Amino acid sequence: VKRSGRNSFMEYSPSFEEKNVSKIILFEDLKKAVEEDELLLHFQPKYGLAHNHIVGVEALVRWEHPEKGMISPGEFIPLAEESDLIIQIGNWVLREACHQYKAWEQHSYINFHLSINISPKQFLHPNFTDTIIQIVEETDMSPAKLDLEITESLAIENTESTIEKIKVLKQYGIQISMDDFGTGYTSLSYLSMFPLDRIKIDRSFIQYLPDNQDHLAIVQSILTVAKNLDITVTAEGVETQEQVALLSTLQCEEVQGFYFSKPVPAGSLLAHWNAQLMS
Ligand code: C2E
Ligand code: CA
Ligand code: CA
Ligand code: CA
Repeated sequence: VKRSGRNSFMEYSPSFEEKNVSKIILFEDLKKAVEEDELLLHFQPKYGLAHNHIVGVEALVRWEHPEKGMISPGEFIPLAEESDLIIQIGNWVLREACHQYKAWEQHSYINFHLSINISPKQFLHPNFTDTIIQIVEETDMSPAKLDLEITESLAIENTESTIEKIKVLKQYGIQISMDDFGTGYTSLSYLSMFPLDRIKIDRSFIQYLPDNQDHLAIVQSILTVAKNLDITVTAEGVETQEQVALLSTLQCEEVQGFYFSKPVPAGSLLAHWNAQLMS
């Protein structure tokens, strides 16, 4: 609808309004989904390159919308991050994933860790560390088997309080990983300030390997610095045999990506693990 008169300087395109209406509807649907248990988790394994074994699994949230089908977290997580709904979703993911981990433990011998994505807004909440510890105790999860994936932006904008929170969690035994490394313009020298267990090199730097020489140089620098700081490196988004071979030559410790496995439901994850135990 185009308005004339006093508002004529503003351009209202129908698609703009439609977009906002559908965004509001989606947000309302999402609130309902959280309450009515429409969210579920898939798990993507992470492999140690030295032995080709599963060393960890990352929980990735999914939304099965009753009419629209599967909606990607790339779409609804940013929407949830615009309000406190992300806190509710984040707590649900952690609780659900810990319950799942305990269920796997009852069915099988397992010794991989469980990685959970933490949104910046969730991390910055004043009760963050208390809430995490409370859920860990409530679900009887072993803190040493829990790994929280935080993002680079926290390191840049809230350095002091971020270091404090990481220290509290680490004291409790929880592992901390920095996700999507390389996308947030953190300089490598920043890394020494944070007591990290792991960094995950963003898929955008892995995607064009082995051909892209700039990306190769970046990956090599990250690996060198991380090694000196005793931080484990995971390469994300590994899709080809050539990438595996290169990363192996570069002595990257951990890899994750469609080449090994897509995110799968809990039952399939345990089947992957058990198949590995047999072999
Ligand atoms: P992320 O944490 O960087 O997760 C990796 C994403 O890349 C996942 O997408 C995964 O399916 C995809 N992926 C893994 N390997 C490959 C590969 O080899 N090739 C390609 N093309 N993609 C690969 P997904 O599950 O759609 O999640 C997207 C993003 O949504 C995540 O990125 C994360 O930022 C966010 N997210 C997912 N679950 C949660 C959650 O429980 N909490 C929060 N706060 N964010 C979440
Ligand atoms: Ca992640
Ligand atoms: Ca990532
Ligand atoms: Ca990512």
